[in-house]
Amino acid sequence: MFGTLLIVQTQLLTSATAIDGTLVDVLIGAAGTVDAVGPELAADNGRSAVERVDLSGRIVLPAATEPHAHLDKAFLAEVVANPTGDLIGAIEAMRANRHLLNTPNTVERAERAARLMAGNGYTAVRTHADVTVDHGLTSIEALVEVRERVADVIDIEIVALCGWPITGDRGADQRALLRAALDGGADLVGGCPHLETVAGDGTIASATEILLAIADDYRRPVDLHTDETLDPAADGLARLAAHVAAGFDLPVTASHCVSLGQQSERDQQRTAEAVAAAGISVVALPHTNLFLQGRGRSPMPRALTAVEALRTAGANVAAGADNLQDPFNPLGRACPFETAGLMILAAHLRPADAWTMVSTNSSRALGRAGAATPVHGLHLGAPADLLSVPAANVREAIAGGPPDRIVWRNGVRRGGET
Ligand SMILES: [Zn+2]
Repeated sequence: MFGTLLIVQTQLLTSATAIDGTLVDVLIGAAGTVDAVGPELAADNGRSAVERVDLSGRIVLPAATEPHAHLDKAFLAEVVANPTGDLIGAIEAMRANRHLLNTPNTVERAERAARLMAGNGYTAVRTHADVTVDHGLTSIEALVEVRERVADVIDIEIVALCGWPITGDRGADQRALLRAALDGGADLVGGCPHLETVAGDGTIASATEILLAIADDYRRPVDLHTDETLDPAADGLARLAAHVAAGFDLPVTASHCVSLGQQSERDQQRTAEAVAAAGISVVALPHTNLFLQGRGRSPMPRALTAVEALRTAGANVAAGADNLQDPFNPLGRACPFETAGLMILAAHLRPADAWTMVSTNSSRALGRAGAATPVHGLHLGAPADLLSVPAANVREAIAGGPPDRIVWRNGVRRGGET
């Protein structure tokens, strides 16, 4: 599913500030892995390093992973307008303008977005791809091609984002299309169980059940748009956790989970503990949820999942940027510092925790992060996916988002004149 490990020369990165503020050296071995991290490695390993990279005045961070994107919709803001500015407005705008989208123009926009992400410090991205009866496999075909085109700079995972309804007789075509998407190159099963009730006779529970059953058939992981609503009664996350606890044995991610943030502390805690026990990763998506939700309400609620309750329960919580300059979000820079900054402001995270959510925790959601405890933020023995920018500490890096970025992917360096 991912790019192969390239053979690189040994590199010794010296005098870098780590995420915890420690001044460290980092040894990248010939296999492109992080072989050592610590203060004053240069004295011990300097002679064996083929290349020395002086990172004085810079910070070295785990590279970012985007856990939730929609590359097929990137840069559609001027093509597809969202007159109401809310979620349903964006969905209807997409539906009304499908005729403007084809495989070549989707490839062009998605590749542009993926390359922008790679340059900004992402080494992997999980993108959803619309798989609806009116859109067919256009997005899947386009993103499969883009996955190949950008394989030298960024890994792409494709989630088949299934339309609705998926249950009952009315969902038959949609179910067949999901299977065709998986046969056609999609890596994961996705969908929107919370929207099942909008157009069909099914429920959140029955939609979840069918999506998991198809995933099980194909032995593929699952990433569901879950409870993307401010309605506190939406309990898709709790139902998903119950399904997983009942014996679903493939990796599961729940994206958005906004309604959890609107529930009582007790309900949040109960669901968060079930999510942690089920091993479900939750992806918070501040850009779109702050833009799309609570519009026109007074007082205006903050549309974000219950980050603190989930973290306290021990769940893996990642953060992503979701849409990029399209009807769901007119902004976005494809930049992990932007997402981390929003998490500091909207979820009240400390800077180091915000960065961990866009890097290590996101990688974990994609099944990429090492199980071992990181050393100064980096995983020993793991592929050297690193990002370095000029900054005294992680807060300053997030605040400034400096354009001077050096990215290592599997130990192969891009950018920087250092
Ligand atoms: Zn999404």
